Amino acid sequence: MNTLIKKVRNTAELSNDPVIKEAGRILKNGGLVAFPTETVYGLGANALSLEASGKIYAAKGRPSDNPLIAHIADIDMLESLVYDISEKARLLMEAFWPGPMTLIFKKKDIVPYATTGGLNTVAIRMPSNNIARALIRQAGVPIAAPSANKSGRPSPTMAEHVKEDLYGVIDMIIDDGPTDFGLESTIIDVSEEEPVILRPGAITDSMVQNVLGKISSSFEFLEEEGEGPKAPGMKYKHYAPKAKMILLRGNQNKIISTINQLSAGEKNFALMITKELQEQYQGPGRIYIMGKASEPETIGANIFKLLRQIDADGCELVFTEGIEEKGIGIAVMNRLKKACGYNIVDV
Ligand code: AMP
Ligand code: MG
Repeated sequence: MNTLIKKVRNTAELSNDPVIKEAGRILKNGGLVAFPTETVYGLGANALSLEASGKIYAAKGRPSDNPLIAHIADIDMLESLVYDISEKARLLMEAFWPGPMTLIFKKKDIVPYATTGGLNTVAIRMPSNNIARALIRQAGVPIAAPSANKSGRPSPTMAEHVKEDLYGVIDMIIDDGPTDFGLESTIIDVSEEEPVILRPGAITDSMVQNVLGKISSSFEFLEEEGEGPKAPGMKYKHYAPKAKMILLRGNQNKIISTINQLSAGEKNFALMITKELQEQYQGPGRIYIMGKASEPETIGANIFKLLRQIDADGCELVFTEGIEEKGIGIAVMNRLKKACGYNIVDV
């Protein structure tokens, strides 16, 4: 297949842009289009078509029980897809849509089980990226879109990453430069009485608490048990680089001394660390700077790109600095723990 790679031209009037029109036509006809969102690039297909959703699983090599998120452009689309929109769900939508938050609802029959991985619930998100919403409007249907990477690879934060993984197997890639957050959406289950955070993201737990009061999450303690989150689809290994990865948590001085101990005799190893730690490190490891510990959102936007770079550079062992698990740091650490397969050393 020839994969078209295009940039939107008419940013002032997206509904009249030829690239958006062409991409909308491809989606209507059951094809696959990778497009930018504020989180990561998504691999889109008609969420109401069994065949089109099926193509996403085939292109990514994604296990068929790992459900997809359906993306919508406006609230009218939501009403046709789900039952029982609770008061709490409405408060969350008002606060964070459009934006990097996914909500889980009970699904209507119109949503095929192919899209929900066989579940009676469906995940819905309204992205804030204007190109994403213009494209959904143009297609006229909700768009199922997991991250546009091969299953198990780091999520794509640039069109080049999508090209690396999916060139030749999808119809089109819309290039909109690097994404804003670089981490996948916060997922909140609102299908039962009490909302539960299933995946941390840029919408932090304290932001959610400001809207709803206290809220529980179901990923934390399971991570500490070394099992990983239990929500459907989250059991799969994610983001893993080819290199062996060790995540070090604790005091920065101790992280350095532990790296020095563990890397003794190693030739081809790397450090994925903050600017602050880089200033203290003097060993031979190759350094990849994640961002500033004092500005954790800069780290979120970089980690997937760096994990790809570390693979491309052929590193065999990578030490990663853990950051404080607070605010966006919770989401960053959630992705780093998955990337290292829960290979964590507390120092
Ligand atoms: P992504 O990996 O960003 O495509 O997001 C898909 C993830 O959303 C899945 O791997 C699940 O963990 C979660 N998800 C999607 N649909 C549901 C659902 N109906 N119930 C619970 N989690 C879901
Ligand atoms: Mg993904």
